Amino acid sequence: FPVQIFRVKEGVNYNPEDPNYDLFKLAMHCSAKRLFPNFSFLDAPFNIQYYQGTPETEIAYMVCRTRVMGNVYDPDREVTPGRGNLSFTSINLPRLAIRSKGDLDLFFDLLDAKLALTVGQLDERFEIQARKKVYNAPFLMGQGVWIDSEKLAPGDEQREVLKHGTLSVGFIGLAEALVALTGQHHGQSQASQNLGLEIIGHMRGYLDRLSAERKMNYGLIATPAEGLSGRFVRMDRARYGSIEGVTDRDYYTNGFHVPVYYDISAFDKIEIEAPYHALTNAGHISYVELDGDPSENLEAFEAVIRHMKDSGIGYGSVNHPVDRDPVCGYNGIIGDVCPKCGRTEEEHGMAFERIRRITGYLVGTLDRFNDAKRAEEADRVKHQM
Ligand SMILES: [Zn+2]
Repeated sequence: FPVQIFRVKEGVNYNPEDPNYDLFKLAMHCSAKRLFPNFSFLDAPFNIQYYQGTPETEIAYMVCRTRVMGNVYDPDREVTPGRGNLSFTSINLPRLAIRSKGDLDLFFDLLDAKLALTVGQLDERFEIQARKKVYNAPFLMGQGVWIDSEKLAPGDEQREVLKHGTLSVGFIGLAEALVALTGQHHGQSQASQNLGLEIIGHMRGYLDRLSAERKMNYGLIATPAEGLSGRFVRMDRARYGSIEGVTDRDYYTNGFHVPVYYDISAFDKIEIEAPYHALTNAGHISYVELDGDPSENLEAFEAVIRHMKDSGIGYGSVNHPVDRDPVCGYNGIIGDVCPKCGRTEEEHGMAFERIRRITGYLVGTLDRFNDAKRAEEADRVKHQM
C-alpha cells in the first residue's frame, strides 16, 4: 500500500510533444524498477465519455481495479469524488458452464437466474446500509465526504446519499467457463473470444437495463478474487470431479483474463482482454508478465503500455521479477547467488526477498497467501514481445 497510478492522457503526457511526456517516461522507468505505478488510460472511450476538462470528471481507479463513474441516479453528477462502491458479489461462471453441459441456451438461462439472485442480495445489503443514520458514519457522512451528505442531519438515513454509490456484480473464471462450454478458452480460439464477449456483454446489458429501470447504479466488475479463486474451484471439483482445463488447477482465472499459464505474446493478450474493459464498468485491470529486468529495456516497456492504450485498455500494469537481498541491499534479479555480495541464501540464513504482485498488491513472500494464489503465481508464464 498504497497503489500508485499514473494517468495517461493524450495532449498531457502520452506523446513526445506533450508537455508532461517526461513524467510518463519517468513513471515507466519507476514501474520497470518497482512494479508501480500502474497506468490508467483517460482516453479509453468508456473513460473519455465522462471527461469534461475537470479533475472531478477524470476517471479514478481505486487501487487494484474498482471504478465508479456513471451515475443513473443523478446524471448531472457522473464524477469520481464523493462516491464509492457499496458492495459486490461474484458469480461463479465455470459452475454455470459445467452444469449446462455445452447447452448455451441453458447456460444463459442459468446466468440470468444467478444475476437475479445476485442483484437481490445486493439490494438487501443496500437496504441495510441505507437505513444507517448519518451519525453511524461520522467521517464519510458527518464530515461531508459523500455527495450531499452535508445537507443531512445526524439522525437522517444515509439512503439518498448512498444512491450515488454503485452495486456491483462480479464474475470469475471466464476462461474456465469457455473451456467447459466449447473446449477452448478465449486465448485459444476466436469463436471462444466471441462467446466470451457475448457472455460478459449479456451480463452488462442485464445490469444496464436494471439500472435504467430503478435509477440505481448496478455495475459489472472483473472480480479480483483473493479468496474466491481457490474456494470456488475446490467446491466445484468436489461436486463435479476434475475436469481438464476447468477444475484441474488450484484456482480459477481472474475475471476475464487469459489464463496465466497460457503461452501468448504480450500484444495478443492485451488485444484479447481490451474489449472486456469496455464492458466491465465497475472495474478491470490487465497484466502483462515480462521476463528479465525491464529497466534495461524501457523501449519494450513503453511499447507494452502504448499498446494497452491503443487497444482500449482502461487500466493496466506490467509484472516482472523484482528481487532484493536484505543483507547487502541489492535490488534486481537474483538467481541462486546475489550478484552484488556473492552470497547464497544459506549464508547468513536469510532468504532473498522475491517481490511479486498478488491480486494487485506487492508482497515479498507468498507465505501468508492461500494455496490457490501461490499455485497461480507459480504457473505464470512470461509474455514474449
Ligand atoms: Zn547481496
